[in-house]
Amino acid sequence: MAAEKRRSGGPTTSDALGEYREKRDFDRTREPRGEPGKPTPQGAELACVVQKHAARNLHFDLRLELDGVMKSWAVPKGPSLDPDARRLAVHVEDHPMDYNTFEGRIEEGEYGAGSVMIWDRGSWRAPDGSVETLRQGYARGRLTFVLEGERLRGLFHLIRTKSDDTRQEQWLLTKGEDDFADPGRDVVAEVVDSVVTGRT
Ligand code: MN
Repeated sequence: MAAEKRRSGGPTTSDALGEYREKRDFDRTREPRGEPGKPTPQGAELACVVQKHAARNLHFDLRLELDGVMKSWAVPKGPSLDPDARRLAVHVEDHPMDYNTFEGRIEEGEYGAGSVMIWDRGSWRAPDGSVETLRQGYARGRLTFVLEGERLRGLFHLIRTKSDDTRQEQWLLTKGEDDFADPGRDVVAEVVDSVVTGRT
């Protein structure tokens, strides 16, 4: 992650995956090249995926579908179910929707070298169900949303704390207060297998 210096995000246009593609050599990695999708219609179900990525530094990649791409954050300590835990979430480049099913190794020498496992998957939405609420929250750097994963459920917040032209945006991921909050559980220590294959 420390090597990723370029600023991420930007509008969802035909080059929405430009930074993603620029960083990778698709002759050498099995990661999908992908295509940006269409703007999200109101009422559509939006995908979420959490990938555990054993790169040089182990981290969890939180990806939330919005307007045809997966908005992505690298969370070094992974998500927490404790509303008092604030987890650093470094905003990284948009990923293609096809990335949601990617598990496997990224070869040595390639960007993000190491293994990727699908740790959780499901959907996400605004508490009021409106896609526009998500767009505005994302643009403002204050996203409140409901996750319907297999391991992560309920209310979460992503708050942007730092943003400038030369570094990646820093956000904080926290669990909202609801019935799914559980300060006593360390979910990333407890649940170590792939939600798809059951392998560790
Ligand atoms: Mn990663």
